Amino acid sequence: MAKKNITIGVLAIQGDVLEHVLMMDKVLAKKNIPTKTVRVKTPEQLEKIDGLIIPGGESTVMSRFIEEKRFDEKLIKMIQEKGKKGMALFGTCAGTVMLSKSSTDKVVKGFTQTLLELMDIDVLRNKYGRQQESFELDLVVQGFGKKTFPGVFIRAPIIKTVGKIVEVLCKSTEEIYAAKQGKLLAVTFHPELTDDTRFHELFLEIVLSEK
Ligand code: GLN
Repeated sequence: MAKKNITIGVLAIQGDVLEHVLMMDKVLAKKNIPTKTVRVKTPEQLEKIDGLIIPGGESTVMSRFIEEKRFDEKLIKMIQEKGKKGMALFGTCAGTVMLSKSSTDKVVKGFTQTLLELMDIDVLRNKYGRQQESFELDLVVQGFGKKTFPGVFIRAPIIKTVGKIVEVLCKSTEEIYAAKQGKLLAVTFHPELTDDTRFHELFLEIVLSEK
């Protein structure tokens, strides 16, 4: 791994921001590289980071906050531009919906939600139903070896289809749970709500990789 100062941002519009900050800090503490995690709410903060996590929460609420201009509208355009230029991005659950090129149900009660349209994946929101239909599933993840990853699914979407340039990291016969496209990583569950740091470690590796 290259030794340079690394700053990981967590998009702090809505959702489980703190959980990602705590988990990323745990990962960074283990590594012998000067790194830190910051919350990102403004274009200025976005300028200073090397990779961005978009947390789970509720993608329609995030979209509404953007639409209502509670956040500088430049923020989303800048994330899009930086993502296109190769900044690493990690979406979890609602964050994956935000990263997607298309969402089957992106019109909610007449409101069309904002998508970053960076990753060539088509998602379907709330595939398993409401909060009470949340569940956990042991997942076999490409590159993680035999030890399964504890998948925590909360009003989770599924990735229905992926484009040719997208690598599928975890799936069942019908559903895709995790995927990677260059420096973009997307999972439909919540690794930040577990003790397993492997997805955050993978993201750090992606941030540090030159390509
Ligand atoms: N159902 C939410 C959405 O569509 C995602 C839920 C989550 O992030 N836990 O944005």
